[in-house]
Amino acid sequence: MKTVLITGVTGQDGANMAEYLLENTDHQLVGMMRRSSNPNLSNCDKFKNNKRFKFEYGDLSDPHSINQIVKKVQPDYFINFAANSYVGCSWQMPEQMFNVNAIGVLRCLEAIKNIKPSCRFYSAGSSEEWGNVDYSPQDLKHPLKPRSPYGASKASARHIVKVYRESYNIFAIHSILFNHEGTKRGEEFVTRKITKNVARIHHAINNKEPFKPLELGNLDSRRDWSDSEDFVKGVWKMLNLEKPKDYILSSDETHSIREFVEKAFTEAGIEGVWHGKGTKEEYSLPNYIMDESDIKSSVLVKINEKFYRPAEVELLLGDSSSARKELEWEPQISFDKLVSKMVKFDIDNYKN
Ligand code: GDP
Repeated sequence: MKTVLITGVTGQDGANMAEYLLENTDHQLVGMMRRSSNPNLSNCDKFKNNKRFKFEYGDLSDPHSINQIVKKVQPDYFINFAANSYVGCSWQMPEQMFNVNAIGVLRCLEAIKNIKPSCRFYSAGSSEEWGNVDYSPQDLKHPLKPRSPYGASKASARHIVKVYRESYNIFAIHSILFNHEGTKRGEEFVTRKITKNVARIHHAINNKEPFKPLELGNLDSRRDWSDSEDFVKGVWKMLNLEKPKDYILSSDETHSIREFVEKAFTEAGIEGVWHGKGTKEEYSLPNYIMDESDIKSSVLVKINEKFYRPAEVELLLGDSSSARKELEWEPQISFDKLVSKMVKFDIDNYKN
């Protein structure tokens, strides 16, 4: 029986990977989690008591913990989904970003090299490594031009994975994942922030209560969004190739934050209209709806400059043709289905 070590198992991708592997393989799973007085295991509800799964305490910023876990569990696969993944806060804690996202990957590679060199390693790369893009869609030949400490940390990880693969013949992959979302996504990311707030406003409108608008930053940046549940399947296919090779996983479509907002409200049965310009732009209920239902508030979305970033990545659009051809991987969940699934989940699970 094989053992899979997953870091970041309490986060979106780690939890989705654990669910997928428990359902589709008979491997033993070890999830590395950071110690905390108030651990949040909400993403692990489906598998935390499964007999083939167990937690081990560890931290990517502590090489001793990584070495000890690798020694103890002797993993056949090491899937690194642990990261400080929020681009927006990377300007506030750039050193921590590098410690976890770049040096953390180096620590994993060192542990594999010294303790279990046959272990297959996956490191999650990011489209943020490309930053201010030169051309679209982006493929693996695109130059690295990160625009944030987060993007720079992931670009460093990409180099060190390649160095270890070539120097020590380790099966190590650093594949690029474009934005990927879902019902386990953290609320600091724009998609989940939107769907959670749509659920809040939907609840208020249904109860004829006043509500505060959702506050956002740049509405016109464009992202290539997919479902994390589709991506973990692609990652597993990569890990089981004969030879290690990097790929891109993406939907190969791009949509603006504005489009996401419109779709999410429409999905909740709320039709808004845009008016105003720049930081004064708002998305509001049209007057006829307000008159009909006696709603006291009308602004659904407004701009708050505090959500603008010091440097923005305006456009991301992936080219996942190699993954589709060589891995026979294809995303099952379209942009529309993703928005619909997230809004429905947040409305159904809305708590005041
Ligand atoms: P990222 O692509 O990994 O940075 O994912 P995010 O979901 O954090 O951000 C996606 C885009 O949404 C970026 O261009 C942000 O500038 C933009 N955005 C606009 N308003 C917000 C907001 O309130 N929160 C976040 N996180 N992003 C926002």
